[in-house]
Amino acid sequence: MAIHEQSLPYIRAISPYQPGKPITQLAREMGLAVEQIVKLASNENPLGMSPKARAAVHEAIGGLARYPDDFALKQALAERTGLGMEQLVLGNGSNDVLDLVARVFLAPGRSAIFAQYAFAVYPLATLAAGGEPIAVAARDHGHDLDAMRAAIRPDTRLIWIANPNNPTGTFVPYPQLRAFLQSLPGDVIVVLDEAYNEYLPPAERVDTTAWLATMPNLVITRTFSKIYGLAGLRVGYALTSAEIADLLNRVRQPFNCNNLALAAAAAALDDHPFVATSYALNRAGMEQIVAGLKRLGCTHIPSHGNFVTFRVADAPQVNQNLLKQGVIVRPIAAYGMPEWLRVTIGTESECARFLAALEGSL
Ligand SMILES: *Cc1c(COP(=O)(O)O)cnc(C)c1O
Repeated sequence: MAIHEQSLPYIRAISPYQPGKPITQLAREMGLAVEQIVKLASNENPLGMSPKARAAVHEAIGGLARYPDDFALKQALAERTGLGMEQLVLGNGSNDVLDLVARVFLAPGRSAIFAQYAFAVYPLATLAAGGEPIAVAARDHGHDLDAMRAAIRPDTRLIWIANPNNPTGTFVPYPQLRAFLQSLPGDVIVVLDEAYNEYLPPAERVDTTAWLATMPNLVITRTFSKIYGLAGLRVGYALTSAEIADLLNRVRQPFNCNNLALAAAAAALDDHPFVATSYALNRAGMEQIVAGLKRLGCTHIPSHGNFVTFRVADAPQVNQNLLKQGVIVRPIAAYGMPEWLRVTIGTESECARFLAALEGSL
């Protein structure tokens, strides 16, 4: 019998995640110099990493013969959030934490709910654990919370929500989200993925960690990959009840965050000037790109993240035209949005490069 058929059928059903095209790959394909290429495809921080994190990585290199010690980062996160360290689970990126939640609560015969156009990792993690994905039709490209509640079945164990959502940038205001969570059966686990939380304007932000006091079924995930600029080091975390954290820790690899990542994340968490500069740059770049898209007649979905999704007549062709000019954006046909492209907010000059290239690509 073929090896393929020895695998679990629900693993065979998975379509692999499609990452943004790496800069070096485009350089090879188009014969371009790496320096000519602008990558706005993976919602990375255009300013790079926090200088404090960089210094911390240099310092941590001397300790690489030792297994990682995650105490300092967990303590810093506990202090920052006001939660106990027993309510924290670190991940090799928040993606790792999402997988842990799926492994703990899903299996064949159990289902998980997420919105149409929600983050691609939700169906992946659900399927990899043998769970059945239930995609609920979106409303205005965002979460239709009433429909998601109505989709709950007796075998539903998990609901995935990204707020703001990627790739649409949509955002559910917190009062609405809170009412939704309070209306759910207490035995359904909710993952609230806040990868873009730090990009929300202070007036829109709410400290969701306070909800954990009354919602033991809630798992909030956050990451160092976005505003903290550490996507390549892979650090994220879950904030949840001590009960769920204990379960996640049972399946977590003991040393899933490496020494350099732990040191960098702890330093980045304290680098307030870097976070503030990154936030301000994103606001300005968002205005610049949205104004440009309007000028070029492209419809966009108002975004609360560090990226914006816009519609063009022929997305594969426009994408190809952009690539030829050394600009990498993200086609999102795999999300069921074949007419749309997603662009990450870059520096002022990167945004200008993108808009100029787009103008010649439509
Ligand atoms: C980028 C992103 C993440 C973060 O992934 P990491 O594994 O932490 O790099 C999580 N959720 C969403 C919705 C994202 O867009």
